[in-house]
Amino acid sequence: MKHLFGPVPSRRLGLSLGVDLLPFKTCTLDCVYCQLGPTTCLTLAREERVSPAEVLEEIRSLSEEGSDRVGDGDGGRGAVEFDYLTLAGSGEPLLHRGLEEIIRGAKEAVDKPVALLTNGTLFFQDDVRREVLEADLIIPSLDAATQPTFERINRPHPDLSIDEIVEGLVRLREEFEGEIWLEVMLVKGINDGEAALIAEAAERIGPDKVQLNTVVRPPAEPVQPLSPDEMDGMLEVFSGAEVIAEWGRDLSKMTVDLIRDLLTRRPCTLAELSSLSGLHQNEILKYLEVLEAEDKIMRLRHKDRLYFQAKDG
Ligand code: SF4
Repeated sequence: MKHLFGPVPSRRLGLSLGVDLLPFKTCTLDCVYCQLGPTTCLTLAREERVSPAEVLEEIRSLSEEGSDRVGDGDGGRGAVEFDYLTLAGSGEPLLHRGLEEIIRGAKEAVDKPVALLTNGTLFFQDDVRREVLEADLIIPSLDAATQPTFERINRPHPDLSIDEIVEGLVRLREEFEGEIWLEVMLVKGINDGEAALIAEAAERIGPDKVQLNTVVRPPAEPVQPLSPDEMDGMLEVFSGAEVIAEWGRDLSKMTVDLIRDLLTRRPCTLAELSSLSGLHQNEILKYLEVLEAEDKIMRLRHKDRLYFQAKDG
């Protein structure tokens, strides 16, 4: 499968079967906390970035074998449940022009809800909002309420304005009948100081849920998370919000060992790990998270590239 990955455990979606629509890493932003590393193609250009026919053929092949019969996360095949089909992947899915065809085709092919994970920066464009109306769930993010903070935390394409983005999200709420869960990523010393303003913007948007996150997984750059107590304090600023709980499903020990073994031989980038293991980069991140939490690997930056390396012992 070229465009499908997972299913991977997701903190919000249970088991999420990902659909990747972009070449790595194409985005409208270059967030300081991005786990995928620096944005290599910072753009606002919406183009047909994948063949819809090819993506839909992969999705339809799932239902031919039974909608639960998909990759088992070890690169092999097996009967595994998934809870959501999620448009996500190696950048910003809204940069693919023609989402409507993929969403409609996916909903016809599998009996599962279709979710869209997006940074929400392009909803100020009418045609973008029209293309996503048939999704079941949209999870946009909003990390700033003023342009200076937006530029600091999200390092956007220079033509993006945070005011326009918030207006786009307000209009999305008016037009979209599915669920909207707004995610706010809080980074210490960068956007926590304007939490009250972000909360006001969130209230204007009126999503079904506001989900507060912080940089739980160590990102590529040295940015700091809020502590659990500080996150609890944020619940008073964002009324009715929730702090996103940790995902709780086990990952394959075999794959954890495989990745550790690869990193013991030599430091690797995410792309190298993906090509060596045959796993999608987003899937590998879940395993790297486990290895980092166990203090078995570390991150290194060399010539603007992010490497992972096994620790001794
Ligand atoms: S929007 Fe997502 S993919 Fe793009 S830079 Fe930010 S975190 Fe990374």
